[in-house]
Amino acid sequence: MLSPDYFDPTLSDSASDEPTATQHELQDAKQKREFNKLQKRLRREVGNAIIDYNMIEDGDRVMVCLSGGKDSYTMLEILRNLQRNAPVDFSLVAVNMDQKQPGFPEHVLPQYLDKLGVEYHILERDTYSVVKEKTPEGKTTCALCSRLRRGSLYGFAEEIGANKIALGHHREDILETLFLNMFFGGTLKAMPPKLLSDDGKNIVIRPLAYCKEADIAEFSRQMAFPIIPCNLCGSQPNMQRQIVKEMLAEWDKKHPGRLESMFKAVTNVAPSQLADRELFDFAGLEAKQAALMEGRIQAFNV
Ligand code: SF4
Repeated sequence: MLSPDYFDPTLSDSASDEPTATQHELQDAKQKREFNKLQKRLRREVGNAIIDYNMIEDGDRVMVCLSGGKDSYTMLEILRNLQRNAPVDFSLVAVNMDQKQPGFPEHVLPQYLDKLGVEYHILERDTYSVVKEKTPEGKTTCALCSRLRRGSLYGFAEEIGANKIALGHHREDILETLFLNMFFGGTLKAMPPKLLSDDGKNIVIRPLAYCKEADIAEFSRQMAFPIIPCNLCGSQPNMQRQIVKEMLAEWDKKHPGRLESMFKAVTNVAPSQLADRELFDFAGLEAKQAALMEGRIQAFNV
């Protein structure tokens, strides 16, 4: 039972406001528990995405694209853990592209990866100059920059014998892309968790597809990853993406669960309830109806 002294304000006044050693220990233990929960959640979500989309198979050599941002560091960390515990045998090779932006801290990633003992390559390509030269003044450079980076990385995967390319896009990236495509592209498409490149040579996977950006940011903060900013090139962030990002963040704050529901929607599409004539045979509905009436088909599919 607590002593009545416990409630005596004069006693507490005389005591120091500094946490005691025991309070420190309790705080540390709580933080550790929270971190373990966060880490477990991220591992579970990555594991589920890998299973749901058959992202990694026995014998795969996975090229993990590292930009030096929070997402790719988190992806590498979680994949390394899965590699140790998964029932399938696969290898990882980290690849960073040094795009020759002024002030790029070349030593940061090699130092980090050497310490981890991970196989890695630094691919040097001066896409920075190309982007600067080709992009008109005042226009955003990210689209061309990403395209050039993607092209170089895809080619490099072949060179090093990697059959899968892992990118660090997460749930919010996928939802942002969905809205950007609707707002500006007139298409209902997002970023798939798994993708075959246009030339058929590469399979791209997004193991963080189920992970929330806020979880990744917190994990990255606690792991103290040596972050390299992506704005060394002096480019402004893509304004429209930023606006959509803020819109989603606002919704998430005001309506908890909305982003979960929207992401679920991306995995649960009903073509007959949209209006794409390529995806659903609207013209053939009468024939289907007749077949249904005559009992030639059992049920009407979506
Ligand atoms: S911020 Fe700079 S380096 Fe990053 S994608 Fe855009 S143009 Fe490329």
